[in-house]
Amino acid sequence: MERTKSAALFSSARNLIPGGVNSPVRACGSVGGEPIFIEKGDGARIFDADGNAYIDYVLSWGPLILGHRPTPVIDALKKVLDSGTSFGAPTARENELAQLVVDSVASVDMIRMVNSGTEATMSAIRLARGVTGRDLIVKFDGCYHGHADTLLVAAGSGVATLNIPGSPGVPADVIRNTLSLPYNDIEGFERLMAEKGKEIACVIVEPVAGNMGMVAPDPLFLKAVRRETATHGTLLIFDEVMTGFRVGGRACAQGYFDIDPDLTCFGKVIGGGLPVGAYGGKREIMAQIAPGGSIYQAGTLSGNPLAMAAGVATLKELENDQLYADMNRRADMLINGLQAAADDAGIPFSAGHFGSMAGFFFTGKKVRNFNDAKTCDLDRFAKFYRGMLAKGIYFAPSQFEACFISAAHTDEDIEITLDAARQVMAEI
Ligand code: PLP
Repeated sequence: MERTKSAALFSSARNLIPGGVNSPVRACGSVGGEPIFIEKGDGARIFDADGNAYIDYVLSWGPLILGHRPTPVIDALKKVLDSGTSFGAPTARENELAQLVVDSVASVDMIRMVNSGTEATMSAIRLARGVTGRDLIVKFDGCYHGHADTLLVAAGSGVATLNIPGSPGVPADVIRNTLSLPYNDIEGFERLMAEKGKEIACVIVEPVAGNMGMVAPDPLFLKAVRRETATHGTLLIFDEVMTGFRVGGRACAQGYFDIDPDLTCFGKVIGGGLPVGAYGGKREIMAQIAPGGSIYQAGTLSGNPLAMAAGVATLKELENDQLYADMNRRADMLINGLQAAADDAGIPFSAGHFGSMAGFFFTGKKVRNFNDAKTCDLDRFAKFYRGMLAKGIYFAPSQFEACFISAAHTDEDIEITLDAARQVMAEI
């Protein structure tokens, strides 16, 4: 597979953009490769600058649940282009997207739009601290909640991929108030709450972890987190930036696990491929955000008409339950097929999925937390990644990321992928 144009573009990008990329994992350093530069997407496929086609399981890291360039989203965007791209004043489309989320997610009475998942979590944390008058926050090792200072502690995603503990530039004073515990450790969490619960403003958790690879929650862990936070007057924030409208369908992961968080963060799918984040929750909490309340949060481009239109068009398409059923079935096909390919090749492998969010690790052990994830065979993952890429299959370039299926993936796409996987597994 020729990639000379991608190589030339990366070489000039490195002079212009730090590391040649605008987000670290894209550099593909941990898998010993260079990024492919994308020219266009269509359905389940992306095409690089050299004209190579790939079946895409990254989907812009999750947002593109309908695949690339879905007609309803493109048509909605074209309409907006004829009326103006930003006003910094309210538009009806903001109400429309808010209504779609409020109607779907039981715990959300009100919602505030922002521009990224990072902004959503950062703002939800400020709100929780403002409402409770407490400073301490709790997160879980390997969960990634964006790149805000307070949350960059034992984080997953790119931080895990680059194997850095946090980041220079984050003052020790700022993270003094962030406690990070192992994911799925019920006893450890109960102990901390018994000791410090009354000082803790909020607990933020990915209800299905997707940033240390995909790690399933023990449902009892999520129940314990809800119970203990409620007991201590601590707010529970579900970070559904990745799982929102993907895991558990429109009811989101909180619907799937039957948990009622105080606040929820969204991003990715609700922006339909445009830059959107949002945080929402109980009316009495959300009402404390400015201008109704005194907890400040704002944004020049928040509620942007293009982003709202893409989100509305996407969520309306997702009102069709069949889409979720088909994605779930195809994720099942993919994960079972990958497991069988690894088993046949005698490679220790463990894989799973929740709806169209999936993940796999090169280890025979069940991965329950970040420490488990870190023991898997990164070298073998890198070989698998490179082998699959050479066969036109685009997975995330890191063991510590999830993969995604869209409504545009077909049974045939999955079969092509599994055919490639059988060959690659035999070689690595
Ligand atoms: N929260 C979760 C669970 C995420 O997966 C991500 C990004 O992958 C974020 C927050 C940050 O979102 P963004 O990259 O849009 O800032």
